Amino acid sequence: MADIIQLLPDSVANQIAAGEVVQRPASAVKELLENAVDAGSTEIELIIKDSGKTLIQVVDNGKGMSETDARLSFERHATSKIKNADDLFHIRTMGFRGEALASIAAIAQVELKTRTHNSELGTSVIIEGSEVKEQNVIQTNAGTSIAVKNLFYNVPARRNFLKSDSVELGHIEEEFRRVALVNPDVSFSFYHNEKPLYKLAKSTFNQRIVAVFGDNYKQKLLPVEEETDFVRLNGFVTKIEFAKKTKSEQYFFVNGRFIKHPYLNHAVENAYAELLPEKMHPSYFINLEVDSARIDVNIHPTKTEVKFIDERIIYSILRSAVKKSLGQFTLAPQIEFDPIQGISLDSPPKGYIPKEPTITVNPDFNPFQSSGFSKPKETFRDKNNKENWHKLFSQSNFECEKELDTPAESAAVKQDDLFSIEEPEDTAPKPSVIQVQNMYIVSDIKSGMLIIDQQRAHERVLYEAYMKRNKEKTSIQQLLFPETCRLSPADSETLKELLPEIKEMGFDIEEFGKNTFVVSGVPTDISDTDVHETIEEIISQFKNNLLNKSLDNRNSIALTLARKSSVKTGTRLEQEEMQSIMAALFACECPEVALDGKKIMILLEKSDIQEKFK
Ligand code: ADP
Ligand code: MG
Repeated sequence: MADIIQLLPDSVANQIAAGEVVQRPASAVKELLENAVDAGSTEIELIIKDSGKTLIQVVDNGKGMSETDARLSFERHATSKIKNADDLFHIRTMGFRGEALASIAAIAQVELKTRTHNSELGTSVIIEGSEVKEQNVIQTNAGTSIAVKNLFYNVPARRNFLKSDSVELGHIEEEFRRVALVNPDVSFSFYHNEKPLYKLAKSTFNQRIVAVFGDNYKQKLLPVEEETDFVRLNGFVTKIEFAKKTKSEQYFFVNGRFIKHPYLNHAVENAYAELLPEKMHPSYFINLEVDSARIDVNIHPTKTEVKFIDERIIYSILRSAVKKSLGQFTLAPQIEFDPIQGISLDSPPKGYIPKEPTITVNPDFNPFQSSGFSKPKETFRDKNNKENWHKLFSQSNFECEKELDTPAESAAVKQDDLFSIEEPEDTAPKPSVIQVQNMYIVSDIKSGMLIIDQQRAHERVLYEAYMKRNKEKTSIQQLLFPETCRLSPADSETLKELLPEIKEMGFDIEEFGKNTFVVSGVPTDISDTDVHETIEEIISQFKNNLLNKSLDNRNSIALTLARKSSVKTGTRLEQEEMQSIMAALFACECPEVALDGKKIMILLEKSDIQEKFK
């Protein structure tokens, strides 16, 4: 029998490999952008026509290639990034295997122009279906430009499988975002059919996130940072109130490359458990730096998945880092976004080393000026919180010019007494409000109508006040008949752990032998008839919370007490009570978010109301 085995010609072998590396225009975009970044570029331009089907071009100002390298770069297994077996581990993280250009050249018409910074002349190579058509010495900018034309021109089956232009463009944009996000120190521009889609200046990570996803991200981000032997991580997660129904903005980067990691994704989502309503997801942008030797080899390098040897440890480090950040910032949010410097903190958390700030302030900026605060992106955490509230009301039909700042002001001063819904001492007239359905406080404001959920609002007020309490300043009501609480041994252990914080909040409580505690005084705002019940609720909230340790002791107790002592839905409120709640709410640090992450208030714009009458 005649021999039948033959070696495939290179061009065919390359085409087969290309099927693995280049599935669609977006894959070529990814490879070209990554090469440009690897070449140390500081400016990268992506130019696309017809969603990448006719042209994908990447122009960079990186180190460029010599004449020989220019030609060699298209050879299979030609790479400058792996020199010996030791370097091989880079394959796992960075996907280096010298296949991208060879693969792309096998299925498209490619034009390379490149020049190194220290040579006067550059090189151009034209290659089609793996065949070099031309190679010339040319004048060109330092750096590299690679134009990929008519992708899959010689693989009609592939070409026919491409999706609609908008779908392919969507994929390209996503690849672009991934590379752009993790390389904020590189400036990027992206043109599609000559229209600029993105122009991203060199910046910090959080500025890059905002530049890519929009200004409304300024208020959404919380920093996450952790450094351990297993992993160094830094980045941002979104605050609970900005959770989304989709999982679209979730980014992990490992050693500078985007990856998908369902297990680590779970770690982040889990950190939000209990804080987020079901089916809502946080966005995140997290860089992980891991020793490449501790990344498993058996994963295909062009896939965006990696497997860590220390996966479980990294999981818990990540989860606790996110939790820490949520606990530190979300429940008592103090974070502000400085457009120049990025995130700045009023009182930095332990271990956070802030960069030296160079702050520029626009004194005329008033987020309420033009459109009120109907857009969800606007929060009330501005430094000029009270002033803004004032403005919000100042032009309402009821002409309560000076009114709102007064109660807000006095509420702030009277933080410690906020639980008893007492009228602040000033006598200024208040904006008039009405109660609807014994559930909502409705108020007329400048741009429309504000509707506040009374229970959620009051819970927020109480929660923040409990968090600020300390024993010296808290009024305690001594019980006529001290209450004895007998607990199970387990609950008794829990209560012992919580005793310092409970006392701090105004409970006079002592351990009295075997699993028994005597309460002889309670904070004035807690009814003296359900002392035992309150203690049990504190314990049970704490135990629930223990399952995923999302709150610290004080947070947990404050949450229980706030829920316990707030006015409830269905309770009729007097004018003064409503005004008092509103004033105290606006003096809160986080007046718009309920303790479970839901909305406390909504605004009906005048135009929304008019719309209803059409
Ligand atoms: P890999 O990136 O895995 O090394 P590629 O096929 O993507 O393989 O690229 C092959 C080689 O071509 C690279 O190792 C690099 O030396 C060179 N190269 C590719 N793109 C560029 C670029 N934009 N600037 C400079 N060198 C480049
Ligand atoms: Mg490459």
